[in-house]
Amino acid sequence: MFQKFKNRIILEAILKAETALYIGAGQDSYTPLAVQGCIIKNAYGMPYIPGSSIKGILRSFLESVVENCCEHGKCNEGLKKLKNRKDKIAELEKKPENEGKNGDALLAGYIMKKSCIACRLFGSNVMAGKIKIADASLNSLNTWISTEYRTGNAIDRDTHTAASKALFDTETIPAGTEFCFRMIAENLTIDEAECIGKIMNYFAEQTGSPEKFRGFYYSQEVDDVLENSRKIATELNISATPVIIINGKRIDGFNPALIDRAIANFK
Ligand SMILES: [Zn+2]
Repeated sequence: MFQKFKNRIILEAILKAETALYIGAGQDSYTPLAVQGCIIKNAYGMPYIPGSSIKGILRSFLESVVENCCEHGKCNEGLKKLKNRKDKIAELEKKPENEGKNGDALLAGYIMKKSCIACRLFGSNVMAGKIKIADASLNSLNTWISTEYRTGNAIDRDTHTAASKALFDTETIPAGTEFCFRMIAENLTIDEAECIGKIMNYFAEQTGSPEKFRGFYYSQEVDDVLENSRKIATELNISATPVIIINGKRIDGFNPALIDRAIANFK
């Protein structure tokens, strides 16, 4: 199916942890001997925030400020099964105004029309959303010194009270750690674009000085910094982070063994 490309909004931002941050890797906390509450890390052992987690937060926020959003992406739940999809396509194709039109395109148009704005932007169980959010990787190695372990009381799952003698360690990311946020939204209608505006205003309010945030957001200064970073990355043929260059030798990703070897070459 072909879709016409109309517009694209790219939002890039730095997310800074104001307090120590815990992003769970979701492992079974009953596994004996395992360090409980480990944070999620990529293949290079670097912490990151999954794009799906950020998406979930933004979706909840949007649902709280826009009326008539469905609950938990349940728009068109009946179309989940293929049988229903085929029936629906046949029904749509029968309509005189749809003569000669592609069945899949008709179904896509139908689903769009029946979906709430949160589902159109963030997706539902029958369609992909118009917003894509990348996993937020560390802004730079300098901002991440090491994870901290915090001891807390385990909470009993049934009674929601502190389980006695069940102290555990939770790995956290220190306050001040910065992550790169990147969101791409394509082919938005005017009302959908307004929702992105609401999300940006929400971020602005959170900073405590929204006017300053908006001024900064639209400033030439920010454009220049981004443009300059892009230029350096393009020149070095870098499309992902982290990349470490030691004495002209390039190391992709955070690979301590290779870094050690590169440093050993100086000695
Ligand atoms: Zn919905």
